[in-house]
Amino acid sequence: MIPKLECNRVSYSYHSLDGETLALSDISFSVASGEFIAIVGPSGCGKSTLLSLLSGLTEPEQGEILIDGKPLKDSPSATGYMLQKDHLFEWRTIFSNVALGLEIQKRLDGQTKEELLEMLDSYGLTGFEHAKPSELSGGMRQRAALIRTLALKPDLLLLDEPFSALDYQTRLTVCDDIGSILQKTGKTAILVTHDLSEAISVADRIIILTPRPGRIKSILPITFPADCKSPLARRNCPEFSNYFNSVWKELKVYG
Ligand code: ADP
Ligand code: MG
Repeated sequence: MIPKLECNRVSYSYHSLDGETLALSDISFSVASGEFIAIVGPSGCGKSTLLSLLSGLTEPEQGEILIDGKPLKDSPSATGYMLQKDHLFEWRTIFSNVALGLEIQKRLDGQTKEELLEMLDSYGLTGFEHAKPSELSGGMRQRAALIRTLALKPDLLLLDEPFSALDYQTRLTVCDDIGSILQKTGKTAILVTHDLSEAISVADRIIILTPRPGRIKSILPITFPADCKSPLARRNCPEFSNYFNSVWKELKVYG
């Protein structure tokens, strides 16, 4: 079967007046349809750069990125990108915020409006359609940002530290929440995080990067028994700490 995403020998450098900074070197991996991948690595190792390349916002200097076996630039709306800051517009209501992407793509009609209302309902935001973002908690705002991204029905969801601006307690809840939603919808997703527990609680595989220039250090498959499926259940599963120690060891050599 053709993978959803293939990243073949991708490298990228930033060029500035001070010279060249090699951010990523020789990155290769593939992601199956419906798989949830987490990418972890030390700060500055090129994680955000990698997601930006996968979103098509930046082009690799070397190598190629394929979606469903075809070059990424042939399917410009294949990916949905969600960032650390929720980027909700404060002057718009929650409904007009989640509808923004569809509005821009001129796809807001009776049916897509109905779908948005259903998503607001299943993500616990019913009753807040007419509220402004400032009236919502951090976790609710993140869920609104997720709806806005999912409304465009991206084939591949890219998440760049989406929970890191939240306080610890909220982060746990929202990560469990969003992880479960994505598991249920069977979305292919790539989550960048510096939080190892977060990665282990949601991912099918974890890609560990080296310090800059980011290279793939290792790829660790994560499997939990059937009764430890949700992110929160995984955290309470005995296997969790074994995985934590394995990833920790891989990263610690750089400490
Ligand atoms: P991460 O997300 O893993 O923290 P980034 O992908 O943001 O890392 O950055 C990777 C490296 O590239 C960093 O060391 C950073 O200093 C460098 N970098 C990022 N953006 C630029 C830029 N616009 N110009 C020059 N260097 C950059
Ligand atoms: Mg980053």
